[in-house]
Parts: sequence; C-alpha cells; structure tokens
Amino acid sequence: MVDVGDFPLSGRAPPADGVPMVAPRRTVLDELLVEAAEAAGAEVREGFAVRSLLEEDGRVVGIEGQQKGGTRETIRARVVVGADGKNSLVARTVDAPTYDDVAPLAFYYYTYWRDLPVDALETYWRHQRFVLGIPTNDDLTCLVVGRPIADLRSFSADVERNYHDSLAPAPHLQDAVRDRQPVERFVGTAVPNYFRRPYGPGWALVGDAGLCMDPLFGHGISDAFCDAELLADAIDAGLEGETPLQEALQGYEAARNDRKADDYEHNCKLARMEGWDTPPFPQLRAALRDNPDEADRWAGTIALSVDRDDFYASSYVREAMAVQE
Ligand SMILES: Cc1cc2nc3c(=O)[nH]c(=O)nc-3n(C[C@H](O)[C@H](O)[C@H](O)COP(=O)(O)OP(=O)(O)OC[C@H]3O[C@@H](n4cnc5c(N)ncnc54)[C@H](O)[C@@H]3O)c2cc1C
Repeated sequence: MVDVGDFPLSGRAPPADGVPMVAPRRTVLDELLVEAAEAAGAEVREGFAVRSLLEEDGRVVGIEGQQKGGTRETIRARVVVGADGKNSLVARTVDAPTYDDVAPLAFYYYTYWRDLPVDALETYWRHQRFVLGIPTNDDLTCLVVGRPIADLRSFSADVERNYHDSLAPAPHLQDAVRDRQPVERFVGTAVPNYFRRPYGPGWALVGDAGLCMDPLFGHGISDAFCDAELLADAIDAGLEGETPLQEALQGYEAARNDRKADDYEHNCKLARMEGWDTPPFPQLRAALRDNPDEADRWAGTIALSVDRDDFYASSYVREAMAVQE
C-alpha cells in the first residue's frame, strides 16, 4: 500500500516464479544462503576475512586472508569476485572506477517493533517525509523513517524523538509505538548511489560492490541475486572457453546496466523525495484505484515481479497518464 496523501492505493504484487513478496531478516536469509551455497558444492568458510589481494603482472591472482583466530593464508584463483558490499576491499584495491555517482540523497532510521498492525508493506509519503512499515519474521515489523540528507545533522541530535515525530504521516503507527521500547536499537544509514566498472584482469564485482542505490525501494538484494546470476554465467562462459573472459564480463556489465539504468534514475529521483506527487502520477493512482488488476501489476513493479517498462508501456497505463494530464 502506498499513501501519498490523496488516498491509500493498495495492490497485491503477483508472485515472482511462484514466490510471493517476502522480507526476511538478514539473520534468516543469510543462513539460508550459506546452506544453499554449501548444498550447491561451494566450500563455505565463515569468519574468514580477506585482508588483501594477490597481484602478479597487473593481474589479480588470488587473495590473502585469515580465519578468525587463525593464521594468514593465501588462496589463488583465476577470478576473484568481490561480493563484499559497499565498502568493497576488492573494488578499493583495484581502484575500480565508478560512474553516474550521486552522493547520498536521503537517510533512514529504522528499528523493529513487535505486534504492529502491519500485514503487508505500507509506505507513506508526505512533503520530505517517508515512512515504511515492513512485516518480517517472528511477528516483527521493521519501521523505517526517511528524510532528505540535509536534515541528517539535526535529526541525529535526538534520534528517538525525531524518529517518533517523523512517523506523523502514519498516525496509526505513530500511536502504536508511542511510549514503547523497540525490540532493537535504532539504526541510521545513508547510502551513496553509483555504478562501478565490475571487472578487470582477474577480478569482478557483484552486488553493492558493483552497483549501489538508495535503499528506498529495497531492491538491493534482488539486484544482487540477478547480477550474481549474470556474472556466474559470464565467468562460466569465459572459463569454459565459450567466449573470451574479458568479452563475457563486458557483456555482464552491459546487461546489468541495461537492466538497471532507468530504475537507477527513477530511484534517485524518488530518493530526492520529489516527483511522486506531481502529474501524471496522481492521475495514474486515481485510475488504478478503480482497477484492482492493474493495481496489482503496479504493486508488482515495486516488488520487481512485473517489468516496469512493460507496465508503463501498456495502453491502459499510457492512457491513464495521458488523458488526465
Ligand atoms: C537500511 C537499508 C535497508 C535495506 N532494505 C532492503 C530491502 O528491504 N530489500 C533489499 O533487497 N535490499 C535492501 N537493502 C539493500 C541491501 O541491503 C543491499 O543491496 C544488499 O545487502 C547487497 O548485498 P551484497 O551481498 O552486495 O552486500 P552485503 O549485504 O553488504 O554483504 C557483503 C558481505 O561481504 C562481507 N565482507 C565485506 N568485506 C569483507 C572482507 N574483507 N572479507 C570477508 N568478508 C567481507 C560482509 O561481512 C558481508 O557479509 C537495504 C539497505 C539498507 C542500507
């Protein structure tokens, strides 16, 4: 449900490959991923920190790292993949260039609350205010407030009070958490936006290490999965000799950028906390209110189970946006 002040617009996103939209906590998801990786034949080493890359003749040929409490060891590899997040050691070491960078546009504070009246994702937008309720596992709701980056300093001066005040666009949630203690501490974050060249001699990047966007829509994990699939195919094609590795990795970058370019721009626009209440979007919302099937498809564009280009290219949506402009 998205409420921008006119009326709450609800839609049920169609499942993606039979899977409905879910928002598990990382404590649950990461464990499942580790189990799946092991089951697929990967050697998993938890508590192992990569300290540096091994380089020979301008090419990455492995890593040096250390098991917690253990001694340092080196591991050689034909390709080292940095799936090591925003502060990627791999990206920093090889000095991977970024492009289309946009400094953090918004900041978010969030925590978890038990037994809130939130059954499905709820979003509230008001002038420079953003509230998001995400039901997750164990009867917990992640309740997020977002504000423009310019407000960060004043907000941080009194996080708890400002968090509660910032829930004003969702009065029922503001009331539900008033005078209560959250299950966990408040966490604040502001994320830069960038594309990074995701490959070079002996190395590749995936996930936030290669492409990072403001988390407003919570697409980062889905994007990381999609890119991991593209990258795995490219490396496989390269190492199996089907395509020269460099060419296959070039194709990976092109496919990633093709998939995300429009979305990246749209995401930055909304993270500036603008554009959601100007024509033709209010008109589209009004049309969708009377068309539950299309409203479901619209929700699918947010959950990534419906292609955004297909949705916005459909004659129904084009008419709704054009006729009422
Ligand atoms: C507030 C917030 C809310 C978000 N909400 C959502 C959401 O609802 N849905 C969604 O899809 N996305 C969401 N995202 C985005 C999402 O978290 C990221 O896009 C996603 O986690 C990227 O995955 P990753 O594997 O690339 O990086 P990460 O999840 O950051 O994982 C990187 C891993 O590498 C490890 N690592 C780093 N350096 C080393 C090293 N030197 N040696 C060994 N290991 C190392 C780290 O410990 C970590 O385990 C959110 C982001 C933020 C900030």
